[in-house]
Amino acid sequence: MPRVVRKSYWETWTDECLEFRRIQKDGTPDGGWFGFDLKDGELKDWPLHEVALENLLRCLVPDAVVCARDWDDESESFEQSWVATKGRIKEYRGQYRWPTIIQCCENGQVELSNFTNTCRSCGADYNSSGQLLAPRHMWGEETGEHWSEIY
Ligand SMILES: [Zn+2]
Repeated sequence: MPRVVRKSYWETWTDECLEFRRIQKDGTPDGGWFGFDLKDGELKDWPLHEVALENLLRCLVPDAVVCARDWDDESESFEQSWVATKGRIKEYRGQYRWPTIIQCCENGQVELSNFTNTCRSCGADYNSSGQLLAPRHMWGEETGEHWSEIY
C-alpha cells in the first residue's frame, strides 16, 4: 500500500440555529418553521438577506406589516395567518469522516472516499483500503470483476 499522507479521522461538528416554529392563530402548529444560523451566539449571515430579515421580523413581531417588495398580485394580503413560537437556540451535532489520502505517484494523491478511487495524475485505481486494483482493461476478465460491482 502506498504511503499514507493523511489517516482517516472523524471530525465532530456543531451547528447552532435560532429556530421559530409556526403556529396557526388557533394554536395548532402548521409544520412550518424558520431557522437562522448562529455563529458564536450571533446571527451568522449578518446583515440578513432581505427575505430572511422579513421572516425574522414576522417571527418577532406578529402584528408587523412587512412590505419589503411590490406584489404583482393585488389580492395578496399582508395579514399573517400564523404566529411564531418563542425563538429557541437548537444545537445540531454530527460527525464527518475525512477519508484517508495516499501518495500514489509523484504528482498524484488519492482520496480513498469511494469504492474505487482513481489517481488524477496517472490513472491508477485503488480500492477503499488503498489496495492497487488491476488496470481497467483487465476488469471483467482476469480479475473476475464485473463493471457493475466497481461503481
Ligand atoms: Zn498516480
